[in-house]
Amino acid sequence: MKIGILVREETMMKCTGKGCLNALLQRKDAFARYSEGVELLAFTHTGGDLNHKIDRMLEAGIKSVHLSSCLRAKSPDYETLLERLSKHFTVVGYTHGSEVGK
Ligand code: SF4
Repeated sequence: MKIGILVREETMMKCTGKGCLNALLQRKDAFARYSEGVELLAFTHTGGDLNHKIDRMLEAGIKSVHLSSCLRAKSPDYETLLERLSKHFTVVGYTHGSEVGK
C-alpha cells in the first residue's frame, strides 16, 4: 500500500515528525490497519500549492493519505481537507494517538 502523510504547516516549524513516523514504523495507532507492506511516498505539510502536491501523490500511486493528529487537533481546515482529499484518496484522519480525537 502506497501512502502519504500530510501534517499541519505551523507544527512542522518545530516538529520532526517523530510521533507520526514512530507510529508508522511500529504499525500502531492509525497504521495498525495495514497488514501488507506500506510504502511512505509523501510526508509534507498542507501549506503551499496543495493541488500540486495532490497531483504528485496521485502520480506516485498513493492510495491512502493520513491527516496528522496535530491537524485534527488544531487546524480549522481539518474537515475541509478531509472532504477535498477524499475525492482522490482513502483518507485516514489521524496518525498517532487515539483514533478518537479530543
Ligand atoms: S501528528 Fe505529532 S508527530 Fe506528526 S507532525 Fe503532528 S505533532 Fe508532529
